[in-house]
Order: sequence, then structure tokens, then C-alpha cells
Amino acid sequence: MFWKLDELTWSEAGEALREADYVLLPTGSLEQHGPHLPLSVDTVRAMYLVDEILKGSDKYNLKLVSLPVLPYGCSEHHMHFPGTVTLGLETYIHLVKDIGVSVHRHGARRFAAVNFHGGNTSPLSLALQLVRVETGMKTYLIHWTSFARDLIDEWTVPGWGHACEHETSIMLYYRPDLVRKDRIVKPKIKLKSPIQGFRYFDEITDTGGLGDPGRASAEFAEKLIGEVTDRILRALKENLEAERSR
Ligand SMILES: [Zn+2]
Repeated sequence: MFWKLDELTWSEAGEALREADYVLLPTGSLEQHGPHLPLSVDTVRAMYLVDEILKGSDKYNLKLVSLPVLPYGCSEHHMHFPGTVTLGLETYIHLVKDIGVSVHRHGARRFAAVNFHGGNTSPLSLALQLVRVETGMKTYLIHWTSFARDLIDEWTVPGWGHACEHETSIMLYYRPDLVRKDRIVKPKIKLKSPIQGFRYFDEITDTGGLGDPGRASAEFAEKLIGEVTDRILRALKENLEAERSR
């Protein structure tokens, strides 16, 4: 069973939030995704892929409430490309914390961010920790791509990660109208370093993308989405059972 919070009345919302096993916050971004994909890729993926999770809720006997997608994220590393809009790290942490505290005040018991942008991961972890400390409500971070990594690795070659064959495949599956197929080029990698650091994306790649978007396929996306949706639902269910048996 599932509900979308923004489609409910206040009385329906009160009931849904108290009954839900999890309240989900899908998190996207508004940032450059290479020459062939729109700025909304992570937000579009968040919308469609969290919908898949909601639709699978009955199969796993889960009650889920979804908040609307957060369409802005932490994208400073993409700011050298026009159109990217970033929230400051502190703003983002406060924003997510305020959302978590709000749903807790209405009776939510578990709050999970379902994330579609790597730059959000660290501030989300901090925000979710702050929500737990302040409210006692259990909080979780589900980074969608972490549940998909081995399947993408098996299918393609190393180097994917942004505006690549993975993200392009998912866009071809849900929103082919937004993919500029004639603009797909393989990016040149300008910097490969063994040391991690904060880097702007134009220091790493010429197009803003990674991997080989020319390998993208909607058929691959379809298989990936089915399997990853199941993995995430199974993890949510197993977590619930583990917590209940303690
Ligand atoms: Zn992306």
C-alpha cells in the first residue's frame, strides 16, 4: 500500500503518516548532465524510480508514504556548467532536517531518503543523523545506484558514473524525448588521480559526462530497474523485520 503525501488531504495525511512503515524522501538535483541530457536527470530518475518502489509495496506487504521529490541538491562541483543550481551544504542539511522533523511531528516512525545524486550523500547522512538525534525517529539513506552497481559493472566497462551509459539508459527508458541522441559523444577524461579530493567536473572531463553514453540502451534499463526495485523493497522489508525482532 502507498500514498503520495502531496495528493492527500490533511486528515488522510495524518492517517497515512502514522500508519506508514516508511516515509520516503526522493532526492534529486538540478545540474549539468553532459551535452545530450537535461539538467533534470537525477530528479526525473527520482520521480520514476521511487514510483516503481511504491508500486511494488504490496508485493512486500509494506506501507509507504512518499514526499514530493526534492528537485535541488548539492551540486557545487558542477557549477562551472551553465544551468546548474546548487544549495549550500548547510542549507541542504537544514532543509532535509526540517522535512524529517515535520513528518515526525505528524507521527511518522521511519524516515528514508532515496537518493539519486552522489553530491547529496554526505549532507544527507548528516541531516539524517541530526533528525535521529533530535526526534528519536529512525532514519535511513538509500542511494539507488549503490543497489545497482554490480549489475551496471557487469554490463558495461569501468568509468561510468555521470551522464553515462547508466543514466542515459534510464532516460531512454522513461523520457526518450529528453535525450538529444545526435549530441551523444564519448567524453575525454582529463584527470585520473589515485587521490580523492573536491574537484570541479570540468577538471575531470571535457563534456561534463563520464563513461560511454553511446552504449546506452532502454532494454538494459528495463532489466536493471526491475531488479534494483526488488532489491530496495527487499532491503526495506528485511530491515523492518530485523528491527521488530530485536
Ligand atoms: Zn545524475
